[in-house]
Amino acid sequence: MIPNYIRKDFPILNRKINGKPLVYLDSAATALKPRAVIDAMNDYYTNYTANAHRGIHMLSVEATLAYEKTRQLVQKFINAKRAEEIVFTSGATDAINLVARSWGETNLKRGDGILLTEAEHHSNFVPWQELARKKGLKLILAPILDDGSIDLIKFKKLLTKKTKFVAITHASNVLGIINPIEEIITAAHKVSAIVLVDAAQSIPHIPIDVQRINCDFLVFSGHKLLGPTGIGVLLGKYELLDKMPPHKFGGHMIEKVGLNKTTYAKPPQKFEAGTGPIAEVIGLGAAIEYINKLGYKKIREHEQRLLMYALKQLHTVPGLKMLGLADAKDRLSVFSFVLESVPSHDVASLLDQVGIEVRAGHHCAQILHDRFEQTASVRVSLYIYNTLEEIDFLVSELKKIFKIFSVIPA
Ligand code: PMP
Repeated sequence: MIPNYIRKDFPILNRKINGKPLVYLDSAATALKPRAVIDAMNDYYTNYTANAHRGIHMLSVEATLAYEKTRQLVQKFINAKRAEEIVFTSGATDAINLVARSWGETNLKRGDGILLTEAEHHSNFVPWQELARKKGLKLILAPILDDGSIDLIKFKKLLTKKTKFVAITHASNVLGIINPIEEIITAAHKVSAIVLVDAAQSIPHIPIDVQRINCDFLVFSGHKLLGPTGIGVLLGKYELLDKMPPHKFGGHMIEKVGLNKTTYAKPPQKFEAGTGPIAEVIGLGAAIEYINKLGYKKIREHEQRLLMYALKQLHTVPGLKMLGLADAKDRLSVFSFVLESVPSHDVASLLDQVGIEVRAGHHCAQILHDRFEQTASVRVSLYIYNTLEEIDFLVSELKKIFKIFSVIPA
């Protein structure tokens, strides 16, 4: 089992919550940080603080090399064709907004269609909704089936000549269900639509080869991938990035500034105005190296084991209803449920009292909750540091909570 040696890498696991050992089941919100990431960022602040791409002195050169090393690590990590296709952003949300503002504003016109799904995180819905409102575009949502998977037949029917853009999550942050992304992208390309993949939830758990899936854009955040907050990635095919106008203006993104005319740098600099998040980029590099060392195979094996066990054990909790039921092989170790007669926020705060950290609410996916006729749910998200014992503890506490609430008269 992974955790015996992995857990030592995460200093926060020594913490107590309400006097109890921390049981962290909220990695889909943000992952815990290994010592290697914390140390890499501390090392930058302690030993070579300087601006990147701004000077020829030694510290600046070291900072620049470390910054650009991460770009190359990201390129290899997702198998992008070239490092220039990797744009650093502040997160997945920021990367989606960049595409909406730059590519969307330039290329979409009144009447064009944008196809999404009912399972999108608000970050991959609201920017498109706003763009559609401004430009008179048609926003269309492909339905989600009762088992939580996408209705592929309907999705394909909704793809028409008018569909110019598809923005789709690789894996749902509520249901953990992994979309058949290659099939989706191939179908979208048949109608010449451009495809953006939201990999915020998938990339911490499964490998992604952007050339193989042939997406046009892909976004993710560093902080769900064991890295720091404040850093994310936009991958864009170079020929698309090259034609897109900058969305922010200032230092670093220019080629030449004149009183009457300014020309802009090539990608990725064109989209990285101002001082970048240097420590965060370095921390992201350390996170990727950590994942590479561990290997996705081990990560996935461990998580599948946890997931199968959790789904089986949770069946024994009276009153527990899962959102979606798709086959475990197409799921991440993320799932959401409701406990009959117990408000989800009460479940989360009672679990917190014994040190178990889960998320309650709509998880920034209100359309999906509407689809399942719920206003809120409890989400459990497992990662490499979680154990079978933690699942046993969660299950026994859920049984206790259900018992307490079931004796309270309605
Ligand atoms: N997409 C999905 C599927 C997510 O789960 C999240 C984060 N919850 C985001 C996008 C947005 O990520 P961030 O808040 O880091 O920008």
